[in-house]
Parts: sequence; C-alpha cells; structure tokens
Amino acid sequence: MVDRIPQRAWFRFEPAQGGPARLGLLHEGCWHDLGVVLGAQAEQPLACLAQGWLQGKGLNALIQRLGPESRMERPGAFLLPIPQPSKVLCLGKNYAAHAREFGVEPPKEPLFFNKLPECLRADGAEIPLPKDLGRIDHEGELVLVIGKEGRNIPEQEAASFLAGWTIGNDITARDLQKKDRERGWPWVRAKSIDAFGPVGPWVLPFEDLFEKEIPLDATPDLGIQVRVDGELRQDSRTSLLVHRVHKVLAELSRYTTLRPGDLVFTGTPEGVSPLQPGMKVEVEIEGIGVLSNRMTEG
Ligand code: MN
Repeated sequence: MVDRIPQRAWFRFEPAQGGPARLGLLHEGCWHDLGVVLGAQAEQPLACLAQGWLQGKGLNALIQRLGPESRMERPGAFLLPIPQPSKVLCLGKNYAAHAREFGVEPPKEPLFFNKLPECLRADGAEIPLPKDLGRIDHEGELVLVIGKEGRNIPEQEAASFLAGWTIGNDITARDLQKKDRERGWPWVRAKSIDAFGPVGPWVLPFEDLFEKEIPLDATPDLGIQVRVDGELRQDSRTSLLVHRVHKVLAELSRYTTLRPGDLVFTGTPEGVSPLQPGMKVEVEIEGIGVLSNRMTEG
C-alpha cells in the first residue's frame, strides 16, 4: 500500500531523545515536535484540544510558530492520539449494506453503544484474540474526535464541536455479541475486550476534510477500505453513513455531555469477516491514512 501522508495531522509519540510522550504535528511533509512550541502542554492532548490548538485558528497560529528547531524525524511508532478519553461512543448499523448483512434494515434512530476506553490501542499495537470467544470480526470505521464540551448540541452547530477525524477498528467478539443480544443484554463486553479498539495513527484537523465550505451535515465523502493480509474485505464510502455526523452529535449530546477528546466510532460498512491470530488488518480512509494492527494468540 502506498504510504500517503496528509497535508496536516497531529499525533502522539515518544521522543527519540527520551522524555515524556507528547504531541507532534505533520505539516507539509515535515514532522514537528510540539513540545518545542507548547512546552509541557504538548504532553496533555485533552488540554490542547480544549485550548483549540489542534484545529482552526489555533492550529494556524501554532503552525506560524513551527521552525527548524521543532523539526524531527518521522517517529518510528505512533502512540494512541488520545490516551484517556472520558468516553468512546459508537454507532451500530450505520451503513445500510452492513445492517443487511445481519438481515435487518438500518434503525430509524441512531443505535448507540459504547466501548470502554481501556480497549483502545495505538496503530501498530498487537491485538491478542482470546481463544475461547468464537468468532471475532474487524469493523473499519471513521472516528470523530470531539473538540469542545457540549450538551444538547443543535444539529446546525455540530461542526463547531468537532476537532478532527481519525481511523478506528471496532473489533467485535461476534458470537458473544449474538449471545448477549439474544438475551437482551448490552453489547459492552463483546465490544470492549482489551485491545479491541485500535485507533490512529494520527488525527486530521476537522476542517481539512472539506474542500471549501463545511456541509451542514458535517459528513465527508471518503473511500473506506479494510484489508486483511492484503486482501480487500470492506470497501465503501463515508457518504453512505445513514445517520449523518451532525445528527449523531445532536442525538448523543441529548443524553451525555460530550467532552474534548471523546471519540465517536461512526459505524462500519459491509464486509465484516472473522479474524485469526497472525492476520494483519489495515483500515484505510482516503485522505486520512492507514491504521494497521496484527492479531496474535490471546
Ligand atoms: Mn462498529
């Protein structure tokens, strides 16, 4: 796969020279250490999001302060962009063709569930698959990164609460989910097994996915693909999301306060398939990048 990099993206890394993990910025093909520009604040991604450094005018101001002294080599590995979000919310059956894989139509209202933040892992992290759980599937997804605290967000203001976009794999213990669903139990354990939530490798600033104006529904049109050991399994477009981004934020925030760094997995397209130890799963979203993780014996 061609290693295309976006014009701008922020990431978290461990400095080669040692010191605490911190944020970096990719800008016009150059990698920068934001610790040089923001000092110890670069070690606090949630604070940087809340301060507005990672999107819009704040990001543009930050870019003005980059220079030869902040330049660095491309990191050897990317850490989880947001290590401890307050929550990870997800949409179920949000692509019609995926809902039909399970013999149902997509729900009229958004179907929400959660993954426990403990299950998050970085790009490149190994994902142990517990032996006794039966079928375990990949689910490649576009992930929203919240930038501003909000409750009861109006649909037409949803865009201003988004800081960025990243890539996620909503790995699912499918047999366990089916068993729990049949009993009317929540899906949380089938969705939250340790390491079942890789995210990354970086976050694209919100405005960078739109060419000119931001559409009212704040929903981009990007190719989304999943490859397992190089073989194409999922292949769709984010414009096929049933419940659009603006509606998702408005609905979620009727019930819970969204906070900077919270993640929202927007749902997976058709083509989910079972995983085995040794398999390499790549989720690619056009214009963002590739999230890659290898499965191991659990
Ligand atoms: Mn999913």
